[in-house]
Amino acid sequence: MTYPEVVIIGGGIIGSACAYYLVQEGVSVHLVEKGAIGDGASKAGMSHIVTWEEPEIHLHLARESNRLYQELSQVLPIDIEYRQSGSIAIVERPEGMASFGETVRRLQDWGVKCQLLSAAELVSMEPNLAPDVGGGAYFEEDAQVNPLYATQAMACAAKERGAVIETFSEVIGIECTSDHRRVTAVLTVRGRIPCEKIVIAAGAWSGQIAQMVNLEVPISPRKGTLVVTAPVPEDLFRCKILLAAGYMDSVREGASSGVAVAANVQQVKNGNLLLGSSRQFVGFDASVDPRVVSMMMKRNLRFFPALAKVTAIRTWAGFRPYTPDLLPIISAVDTIPGLYIAAGHEGIGITEAPITGKLISQIITGQTPDLPLGLLSLSRFKEALKNLI
Ligand SMILES: Cc1cc2nc3c(=O)[nH]c(=O)nc-3n(C[C@H](O)[C@H](O)[C@H](O)COP(=O)(O)OP(=O)(O)OC[C@H]3O[C@@H](n4cnc5c(N)ncnc54)[C@H](O)[C@@H]3O)c2cc1C
Repeated sequence: MTYPEVVIIGGGIIGSACAYYLVQEGVSVHLVEKGAIGDGASKAGMSHIVTWEEPEIHLHLARESNRLYQELSQVLPIDIEYRQSGSIAIVERPEGMASFGETVRRLQDWGVKCQLLSAAELVSMEPNLAPDVGGGAYFEEDAQVNPLYATQAMACAAKERGAVIETFSEVIGIECTSDHRRVTAVLTVRGRIPCEKIVIAAGAWSGQIAQMVNLEVPISPRKGTLVVTAPVPEDLFRCKILLAAGYMDSVREGASSGVAVAANVQQVKNGNLLLGSSRQFVGFDASVDPRVVSMMMKRNLRFFPALAKVTAIRTWAGFRPYTPDLLPIISAVDTIPGLYIAAGHEGIGITEAPITGKLISQIITGQTPDLPLGLLSLSRFKEALKNLI
């Protein structure tokens, strides 16, 4: 019997990307997923590859990932519906333009291709927008991908190159040497998988998995609800990603607030609109709350009155993996050799999946990572706690 070098826990877009990039390096991989591939946040997400989320480390992760997606769209065995569609962020009122203008100039200084738009320019680009908005900006490099297809395609390509992809197999334990100095196996409902290294890529569930080795990983579920409409004509909105500029504020709202909603419309390849977005801390309660749907729709109708004539066909909710500083953890665990974390991407995990997989493969194979990883280390939380004491 041969054993894998690395077991990946979680078959979302992050775990699948880790599997894909590890097998490219010749590493033997066994991925374990408690449901089907993509069953967590990854199939619940929208389609936006966001290349302008701050702080700067997100810009690097997202832009490098976008480049990798271009490569992946050429080589993966399934069409992942990647397209560079650009996005438009809309400022609700004229008085919001000054501060958004500063954001756009800062992003331009960092090399993001974006341009500020007056209200008149915006409405001439998008005639079906509310006419009384303050203005906005166009982000040329933003793109779209079908997150479920991207997840399945990376898992499938990893399998073609020898990875074992084990679905409907829940992880129930992690085994370490008796002195807790090294991982030795993953325990699932189906049995024991001996291995040298383990990557926890279980999204919002990663904190629970880490507790199996008494490790504190501050990741919690942040629920997001989505509405899907029937297909609409391509010309209803010319740009395929439209969102309120205030969206980023809803991301930054703290854990104590109630529901944060922001207008967000994305048209996918087959013509349906995805309407978002909401953020709530309600544990793992996946039920769709009609009041939240109603709040989301009010915000969307404020910017996109043409939606009043569009038919909604389904709703769902998923769990973004939230960390307190809104940065992912892409890191070895210093205290338990052989254990790695790739999780905590909140609302940007679809965007940052390919680079996360590549960075994890570089860490595990001892290569110099493409990006500096200090800000993404697990130990940053220990440092933050130390500073509070
Ligand atoms: C409504 C919504 C809209 C979004 N829109 C976007 C967007 O437009 N752009 C963007 O970049 N991001 C978006 N996101 C965020 C993105 O979906 C997530 O950041 C990303 O999917 C996280 O991927 P993951 O693989 O870490 O987690 P998940 O996809 O949740 O995968 C984790 C997996 O681990 C499995 N697992 C858990 N416990 C166990 C166990 N014990 N044993 C085995 N397996 C286990 C789960 O079943 C799950 O499949 C959105 C999220 C939501 C909810």
